[in-house]
Amino acid sequence: MTEIATETGTPAVGVELSERLTAGPHLYIDGRWQHSSDGGTRDLINPATGAVFTTVDEATADDALAAVAAARAAFDAGEWSATPVAERAAILRRIADLLVRDREELARIETVDTGKTLEESKIDLADVESVLRYYASLVEVSADRLVDVGNPAVVSRIVHEPIGVCVLIAPWNYPLLQISWKIAPALAAGCTMVAKPSEVTPLSTIAFVHLCEEAGVPAGVLNLVQGAGSAIGDALTDNPDVDLISFTGGLTTGTRIAKAAAPHVSRVALELGGKNPHIVFADADLPAAIDQVLTGVFLHSGQVCSAGTRLIVEESIADEVVDALIERAGSIRMGDGLDPSSRTGPLVSEAQLTKMHEYVKLGVDEGAVLRTGGGRPDRDDLSPGGYWFAPTIFDRCDRSMRIVSDETFGPILTVERFGTESEALALGNDTEYGLAAGVWTSDDARGERLTRGLRHGTVWLNDFGYYTPAAEWGGFGKSGNGRELGPTGLAEYQEAKHIWKNTSPAPAGWFPVPGDDDATA
Ligand code: NDP
Repeated sequence: MTEIATETGTPAVGVELSERLTAGPHLYIDGRWQHSSDGGTRDLINPATGAVFTTVDEATADDALAAVAAARAAFDAGEWSATPVAERAAILRRIADLLVRDREELARIETVDTGKTLEESKIDLADVESVLRYYASLVEVSADRLVDVGNPAVVSRIVHEPIGVCVLIAPWNYPLLQISWKIAPALAAGCTMVAKPSEVTPLSTIAFVHLCEEAGVPAGVLNLVQGAGSAIGDALTDNPDVDLISFTGGLTTGTRIAKAAAPHVSRVALELGGKNPHIVFADADLPAAIDQVLTGVFLHSGQVCSAGTRLIVEESIADEVVDALIERAGSIRMGDGLDPSSRTGPLVSEAQLTKMHEYVKLGVDEGAVLRTGGGRPDRDDLSPGGYWFAPTIFDRCDRSMRIVSDETFGPILTVERFGTESEALALGNDTEYGLAAGVWTSDDARGERLTRGLRHGTVWLNDFGYYTPAAEWGGFGKSGNGRELGPTGLAEYQEAKHIWKNTSPAPAGWFPVPGDDDATA
């Protein structure tokens, strides 16, 4: 057995889970754990060291087709959708209980796979638990809706039925959290599904599917394939057996998936990227604002879809704010996520590291002023093979620069300055994305104007980064076209059906009945 080990050699996960995960098999199709049909595997790399820490099976397109076929057969058999809502809710709660039982192991898995700190992984797991419990409760109280059609003989009602077979595709930055936002409502709604985590960070999802199996999710309802999107993506998305694709990831992949799904008229729910403005007025509580701007962009080394990567700050306080941010950024303790003293970890992969270096070069070429960071931190204690990139701040930026308009998805903050409120609002809306925004001001009326005026799916006023399972999450513009979480997050996995029942049947009386005198009059 290959044990998932930390750099110091301590086992990173509990024995039971580590056996399941390291030995495999890792694909779960129609209730059976299986190896890839061509024997393919992928090495997983610990971003803090650059070293391979385990190997997982890598699905082929045939495996993906088999997973969709299993989900289709399970849905068409109708057992899961006919399972009483209370039983489905009980299974969701059981998964949540098992997650709590295994949270130490799962947190370590997530940290070794993504690089994020153990504390962040534990917060993610607590959020996953809340999402499971939220949808268990919501589906139990989701009622049919009666419609008054003005005829007492007619009972008209709207019922919600599962949408069918769902393909659930998640990114690498919050692997388990993002897939749970999809699996929990899909199970609650009575759908069957194929989950596809990112090839970069599949391990926590594999572990989670083991828990779902243990909790009693029937064979065929939840299937799992991991593999490169380029190899198995089309089998999952250009597939007439799929009713809904729920995708979280980048804009380029999202638009490709929408095109693949179009011929089949499969529903497509897209949760895409963001380039999120964080607006600070001179009348704000500055210590709080500065602290949250720092956290909002450098948490998880900026690999957060809602990261506040664009600081838009009032000119009169800009120097003070930027100087304070530079000082604070320099003191952020970066390190291996398993080290409790680390406050942020490395980037997830070498590809992300290369991308950050390219963006720094681009920013300098574009004329922005690099004030801090821009490369590997100057520290001997960081593993030489790790994907380290220091918190980086570019001042004197403007909207013509690509470092301001592109989603860099790393620890790079750009600073733009404004003079008036309308200028701040215009800058905040001057993006093709629209995922999230923050505003800091002590003027309540202005806060209200800005929160309503900003074209973003979530707007925080005098706060940043928080969400709750009960509130919808999603983007305006090119940040996506769906909503996860909240009641809308359940509705995405449901079809609304209108049932019209006449308790006193009568002819429509539109076309004349031959021989009926009244009808020819
Ligand atoms: P990608 O778009 O590269 O990948 C996302 C997922 O899609 C991965 O599982 C990937 O698989 C898969 N994929 C890739 N190509 C295809 C294809 N042709 N068909 C089907 N699936 C495919 O995004 P990243 O993983 O790099 O994640 C970062 C992005 O995710 C950022 O843009 C970020 O903003 C966004 N994001 C959005 C969130 C939101 O709530 N709006 C939340 C979190 C992230 P593989 O990697 O295995 O190739």
